[in-house]
Amino acid sequence: MSNARKCLARVGPPAYACAVNGPRLCSKTGCGKPAVASCAYNYAERLAWITELRPERDPSFYDLCPDHAAGLRVMNGWTLQDHRARPATQAPLLLT
Ligand SMILES: [Zn+2]
Repeated sequence: MSNARKCLARVGPPAYACAVNGPRLCSKTGCGKPAVASCAYNYAERLAWITELRPERDPSFYDLCPDHAAGLRVMNGWTLQDHRARPATQAPLLLT
């Protein structure tokens, strides 16, 4: 019976595994929409930049949904750069 008890003791929410393997979500508090972009800050340069969603989780980047990526603002004196190939704020022009 000690085996069963040991097994039960190990049952718990595999939160870490879920977070690593699950869908990437916006890191803004209370959001939770799927992330489409990553954002990082360089405090020394007072620079913030948005890139395409990083292929892997990177502790120095915040994942952002389209809304929060489009609405990202930086503090006074900071520069915000958008390094994405096609910013989500610009809809593709389909004029024919
Ligand atoms: Zn969001």
